[in-house]
Amino acid sequence: MSKKTSKISGFYKLPVKKRIEIVTNFSDLSEEETKLFSSCLDIQTADRMIENVLGTFELPLGIAVNFIINDKEYLIPMVTEESSVVAAASNAAKIADVKGGFKTECSEPLMIGQLQLLKVDDVADATQKILKHKKQLLDLANAQDKVLVNFGGGAKDLEVRILDSPIGKMIVIHIIVDVRDAMGANAVNTMCEALAPMLEELTGGKIRLKILSNLADKRIVKAKAVFDKRTMGGEKVVDAFLESYILAVIDPYRAATHNKGIMNGIDSLIIATGNDFRAIEAGAHAYAARNGQYTSLTSYKKDKNGNLVGEIELPVAIGIVGGAGNINPKAKLCKKILGIKTAKELSEIVAALGLAQNFAAVFALSTVGIQKGHMSLHAKNIAVMAGASGKQIDIVAEKLVKEGKIKLDRAKEILEEIK
Ligand code: NAD
Repeated sequence: MSKKTSKISGFYKLPVKKRIEIVTNFSDLSEEETKLFSSCLDIQTADRMIENVLGTFELPLGIAVNFIINDKEYLIPMVTEESSVVAAASNAAKIADVKGGFKTECSEPLMIGQLQLLKVDDVADATQKILKHKKQLLDLANAQDKVLVNFGGGAKDLEVRILDSPIGKMIVIHIIVDVRDAMGANAVNTMCEALAPMLEELTGGKIRLKILSNLADKRIVKAKAVFDKRTMGGEKVVDAFLESYILAVIDPYRAATHNKGIMNGIDSLIIATGNDFRAIEAGAHAYAARNGQYTSLTSYKKDKNGNLVGEIELPVAIGIVGGAGNINPKAKLCKKILGIKTAKELSEIVAALGLAQNFAAVFALSTVGIQKGHMSLHAKNIAVMAGASGKQIDIVAEKLVKEGKIKLDRAKEILEEIK
């Protein structure tokens, strides 16, 4: 049997059926799983997931190829409405492969739960009392989730912060919970709510908020890759890249767009695996502003040989158990395509994909510009809007791109000409 590889050149040129065949072989999908690609979420399942359901809403599911992360080959499922994102990620991964692909590291899966304690007369005394009862508080938290504790997770630590506010001093208690393979929001929220009465009794204060923090800065993932200067087009291109990148470091206006590009990739995978993309977005952007100024989540420099070294660091609160990821059959399918065994492994793929996406965007911006890549799919959409169908779509789109004028009125004219 031939070696399974994620390096598939010309994947984008293949018909959908052939692409499915390749992914089926790569990830050992069953016939039933393969059928899921063309199925919708059934209405009963959808009705159990959210309220007031009328139907389901589909988005394209594509596959990014060429990814080698920690020497393992991955095909990465991406769910997005934006053209060029999947192609850009695949292309960046191909360039990263020249120097060995992506290398990652990851902290323990520690989430933070917050309890806001108000109406305390003596905050120093209350802090002492809380810290003195740390063990009892952690035991009470762990009694809420025996399953998590059995998997080696659970509440591990407790920290106390005193904050000034317009309504006076308040104490904010953080419980630090190892959530293992879960995203952890439900697990942590349950623990927070369970601790509230004991904290009120200990301090005589009043607990108001009791909820997880999405600034998951104890659950950090890093990914790194070296991008070969020759493959990029020479050292001048590397220099142009670095000049472009630096604006995202110093200017929040650019950093917002730079990080949005990172999230193009990350969100696509978060959605594909049934995870909470708002949680990831909130954590990433809050982390990007952790030093007081909103800045880039990636960093780049040249190595001694003139190659570009890229790194990304961000919190990734995702799970492979719990949440919607185990209810939606397509999310389960996407996890099978990835071949992941732990949430840690998934979070490392997330970081590598974010770095790849960012590299691709800055590379395009500092050389040919972003529009060139966007144009061919955009032209197809314009052709459809003009009324083209079947083979007409490609004919109209190609002519639009060739003429360099992708406009609806021109698409309508071309369609009339070929009819
Ligand atoms: P969950 O409660 O569905 O599943 C987690 C539970 O699964 C654990 O508590 C544990 O009991 C069990 N489990 C089984 N095997 C495990 C393993 N190997 N590792 C860890 N746990 C294991 O889900 P969750 O992850 O606690 O919560 C995620 C959901 O919460 C998401 O759907 C998210 O959208 C939602 N949510 C998010 C927020 C927020 O981000 N602020 C707030 C509320 C809810």
